[in-house]
Amino acid sequence: MASVGLATGCYAGLEPGQGEGADELGTDGSEVGSDAGESGESDESSDGDAGTEAGEPEPGIYADGIAVDRVEINQAVGIDLGMGGQAIAEGSRVAPVIAGRPGLVRASWSIDAGFEPRMIQARLILTADEGTTSYVLERYVGAAPGPNDWGSFDGVFTWELDADAITGSTAITVELLEDDGSRAGADASEGARFPATGGLDLAAIDGPMTVKVMIVPATDPNVDSTPITISDAFLDELRVNLYNFYPVRDVELQVHEPLLLNACYDGPSVMAQLSALRNAEGLGDEWYYHAIVGNSNESYCNTGGYSWLLEDEFPGNDRVSFSINHWGESPNNWTHELGHCHGRPHTWEDGTYQPAAADGPDCGRRTTWGYALLPGPHPKANEWDFPALQDLDDWLVPPTEGLGLSGYCLGHSDYDTWGPALNDMMSYAYPYWISAYTYRELAERVAIVSSYGSPAPGGGGDLGAAAEGDPRSLNLVFTADGSVHQYVSRGWPKGLQSGGELGLRVELRGATQSESRALKFAPKRGPEGEIRGLVIPLGEHGPNAWSAGELEIEGALTGSQADAPTTHRLVIEG
Ligand SMILES: [Zn+2]
Repeated sequence: MASVGLATGCYAGLEPGQGEGADELGTDGSEVGSDAGESGESDESSDGDAGTEAGEPEPGIYADGIAVDRVEINQAVGIDLGMGGQAIAEGSRVAPVIAGRPGLVRASWSIDAGFEPRMIQARLILTADEGTTSYVLERYVGAAPGPNDWGSFDGVFTWELDADAITGSTAITVELLEDDGSRAGADASEGARFPATGGLDLAAIDGPMTVKVMIVPATDPNVDSTPITISDAFLDELRVNLYNFYPVRDVELQVHEPLLLNACYDGPSVMAQLSALRNAEGLGDEWYYHAIVGNSNESYCNTGGYSWLLEDEFPGNDRVSFSINHWGESPNNWTHELGHCHGRPHTWEDGTYQPAAADGPDCGRRTTWGYALLPGPHPKANEWDFPALQDLDDWLVPPTEGLGLSGYCLGHSDYDTWGPALNDMMSYAYPYWISAYTYRELAERVAIVSSYGSPAPGGGGDLGAAAEGDPRSLNLVFTADGSVHQYVSRGWPKGLQSGGELGLRVELRGATQSESRALKFAPKRGPEGEIRGLVIPLGEHGPNAWSAGELEIEGALTGSQADAPTTHRLVIEG
């Protein structure tokens, strides 16, 4: 299964540079950096009082003449959960929510004509198997729709959630309540409650969702006999940028002993050397190896970075890449190179990239608001003296889809006239942010790869190792183009059905093909009730059945395929 796609050499902007690159101070030992998600921020807003309470909230009086309009959760990219007060189901969202990752929840409102200006309470309620928590804000709402500014941090009701606030079972409710207990209020169906009944399932991916990278400081002795030093500060920059962009619960970084390269002018040679190192050390299938070469090697190595573009999702592939620390740019370049390692091509080489280009090569435009979970400077803050890049804290990174970016991909020296257009990290248009498209695709990959490193009790990291006490499910998502994405999540789905009831045949064949069995599953449904995916409980079927084999699915799976039964075959590797 181990197929390796095209090699991707990345020629980072080779402008005449100056400066020393990374901070050369600090340690050179092995060090573990992780726990990016454990910031202890409390929820609050600059407007009004914020309060957090555990347990079922007291019933409130739904506010009259005002309705919840747009609801979004942002963990790097904005994911609309509601629009015009209508809930958006999992299958119609631009990207998945990640459990165990902090998030920013925002809600805007609309008012009826004649709305009487007054203080309004907004209550965010998170309901999960682990319990219920409410977060209360209040603010003055005037007669005009403003201040109701989606582009500013405090322009709407805004809640900052800690990493542990969102679990795999969390559902969300937003209520707008009368602040004055003597008012009559409105019925929940009139819009002050989102959704009108129950809670909206965030359907958060609840796997390990950890990217593990072994950082290999390297040099070519033909150029410089001293490998780059990975200082603590540099390591932190790498960690923060990876955590802010990638759909992860955590990142785990280690620093390797220095490596002398055979020939850094030859990308494939470096890759082969890294592959050999990674395979010899056998840390696990989920580990990525990324070499960083100092700026002194810049012209000799002649690239910004390099990665194999991996195309399959099974263990055993070599997850290796490297970057040159041009003027301290590795924190910028390594998210890009690791993106290749996660199977992402350049935006202009990706026929399915969204939003599609109106003209010319796509520069990685983004449709959603960005948000940094960890504050601090953007990795390109030194290069572009744009105020918002100096500290990303509480900055909503504007979407770029509305900007005319033709010709912008390789010529970014005119950044100042364009303004803060942060394009997708798989483009060449710096400074980067991440698009919802890339974030979603990374999430699929991270879910799969990180599950390799999370063996169930008593077994290896294969799918079949799920056991009672650590139940897991295989999630299959069928896309409109007929491809299948898969990842492993914790827990078993509720509401299992057999295929017969749904016109689907889902069978697992053993590796020898000598037997097959029908499986029960829970369907993932889109907004019109169509089946867009399956959640198949793993442990119930016995480890042996899953250690290797082929899953065969036949039936109408999505709205677009309703008239054409499709057979999907997925190889399950042990
Ligand atoms: Zn590239």
